[in-house]
Amino acid sequence: MSIQVLLIFLLNILTQHYGFCDSYEIRVGIATDVQRFQVGSDGKEKLIIKTSKNKIKTITIKKPVTVSYVKQGKIKLLEEIYYLPVKFTSEEGKIQVNNRIYPGEIEVILSTKGVTIVNIIDIERYLYGVVPYEISQNWTDEMLEVQSIIARTYALLNLNRHQGEGFDLCAEVHCQVYKGYSKTIHTRVKKAVDSTEGLVVVDEDTNKLVQTYYHAACGGGTENVIDVWSGGLEKKHLIGVNCNFCDSSPYRSWRYEISQSKFVKLLAENNIFVGKTVKKIKVLKTTKKGRAKEVEVVGDTSSAVLRGEDLRRMIGYNNLRSTKIKNIEVNKESIVFYGKGWGHGVGLCQWGANYLAQKGYKFDTIIKHYYPHTRIYKIH
Ligand SMILES: [Zn+2]
Ligand SMILES: [Zn+2]
Repeated sequence: MSIQVLLIFLLNILTQHYGFCDSYEIRVGIATDVQRFQVGSDGKEKLIIKTSKNKIKTITIKKPVTVSYVKQGKIKLLEEIYYLPVKFTSEEGKIQVNNRIYPGEIEVILSTKGVTIVNIIDIERYLYGVVPYEISQNWTDEMLEVQSIIARTYALLNLNRHQGEGFDLCAEVHCQVYKGYSKTIHTRVKKAVDSTEGLVVVDEDTNKLVQTYYHAACGGGTENVIDVWSGGLEKKHLIGVNCNFCDSSPYRSWRYEISQSKFVKLLAENNIFVGKTVKKIKVLKTTKKGRAKEVEVVGDTSSAVLRGEDLRRMIGYNNLRSTKIKNIEVNKESIVFYGKGWGHGVGLCQWGANYLAQKGYKFDTIIKHYYPHTRIYKIH
């Protein structure tokens, strides 16, 4: 057993026993399998390079420079060759990569088709680059605090998602959208992250982190997780709760029209063949809150039954905004869906939560409403 393996083993035992540690440094994959990228120091002109042999070299650059991948685990920067992994940092603790500014350190590691760029960063500073992209700028301070807490919980619970690729979380929707420091950090976002530092959502009995799924607007009641996702496990904090609070959302009701030919093509791409045109679409089963669980598509030659969530994935999450489908019109040339809300409907409804915040409810009350059987816990 190497020293590294032993240390990880001991750290695992410690964190299993006590649950949490004092601070969390996370690795966010900001680009994978790239052949070249631009790196610059932000502010001062000194770029600090830490090589794999723990040598530190400082170079002066006037503007960002190109780093290119050279075969056999090496990169080239200003005619000089470095063996991977290589870390970049600056005196100011900020690094520019491909026109974005990242706090902390940037590590470049070897990947299957080139290099992967990883931002090593403290969880709190990571949230500065996450919260602005998951919310509407006009929301209340209390809602920004709610969002900081659930984004922190979500990140910590999903740290092993990209283990095999050399980082914890990606910077895309798959994990959570992260864009580093925006040129001007939103002071309200910073305040919300700072004032909730270390706060996470845990199971009220076991103190374990819980999955804090969220969506834009439920359209009148959230869902039980097992009713929405196949293979979803029953979770007492992910059960449907009342929400009459998201009526002010722009997604209160929506309409989406798709041409017959495009819809039939989408079906075919998903190995569903019902003929040349669709004659009727019927919602066969709904959840208690009225989301389509099963849908039957009747075509001119045959019919097919598919899950509501699969229909949504097929048409596109931003097109068929939810499976809370109120009406489906099948015309000669097109199909029109009418529905309510935006998102899967599991966990916290952001528009509803913001409404409760406007009414003066505090973040813990709001979080407990959408995630029953939980409490807020301070991990560091
Ligand atoms: Zn991911
Ligand atoms: Zn709602």
